[in-house]
Amino acid sequence: MPELPEVEVTRRSFSGRISGAAVLGAALGKPLRWPLGCEPGSLAGRRVADVERRGKYLLLHMDQGLLLLHLGMSGSLSFSTELPAMGPHDHFDLHTDRGHLRLHDPRRFGAVVWAPDHGAPVLHKLLGHLGMEPLSPAFSLARFAAGLKASRSSIKQLLLSGRLVVGVGNIYASEALFRAGIRPTALAHRIGPVRVARLHAAIGAVLEQAVSLGGSTLRDFQSADGSAGHFQLSANVYGRAGAPCHTCSAPIKMLRQGQRSSFYCPVCQRS
Ligand SMILES: [Zn+2]
Repeated sequence: MPELPEVEVTRRSFSGRISGAAVLGAALGKPLRWPLGCEPGSLAGRRVADVERRGKYLLLHMDQGLLLLHLGMSGSLSFSTELPAMGPHDHFDLHTDRGHLRLHDPRRFGAVVWAPDHGAPVLHKLLGHLGMEPLSPAFSLARFAAGLKASRSSIKQLLLSGRLVVGVGNIYASEALFRAGIRPTALAHRIGPVRVARLHAAIGAVLEQAVSLGGSTLRDFQSADGSAGHFQLSANVYGRAGAPCHTCSAPIKMLRQGQRSSFYCPVCQRS
């Protein structure tokens, strides 16, 4: 499943090329998770301003209105000056004078949704509940610490929920907690200020690293497909149950939290 870093890498791979493009038309394949919300042909004549990312949504701002794109479980975007005809798993094309943006999504949990303006209810519905953006200045230590204090969850589940900060999926939460020396089961409100600060820094660092590793392959992208970035992040704990900790050699442990696997070092993450 594309995570925040892949979505960011995807954004960077085509944002510069599509900004300023005039939309010539659009085409739909099979239904996606949510309806487009307008006639595809009505997008013709608009101009793309820029591409923003919010959580795992890409926002294609137009001179009027915007398109929200989500890659779902299996989606990928390509942006190319030449595209073959739509295949059975291609479900959205945006044709512009600079190239064609295509959503390929075999499982169709992705979505492309039109919002006629920034006050459109659909934006509030899809983006309104999202937590802080971890790669932006809005992700302040003070707000992060306050969010932990107010929570009754374990820190791992609070991070995965996306309510406080978005985009910290299982692998990134596991790695950030390892770097901060915090056990995944620790109650968020009981973590002291020094470790909270360490975790805040670790979340930013882990995600930045994942983006830059994905970004390092960016020059090879023929398309805007972000799938190459994800697993280049070399894990300290994630997926390493039983293997020796890179820091202390103790075997990495795994436990179930909610429906998810958590990995941690019992020595480096004592509490
Ligand atoms: Zn260790």
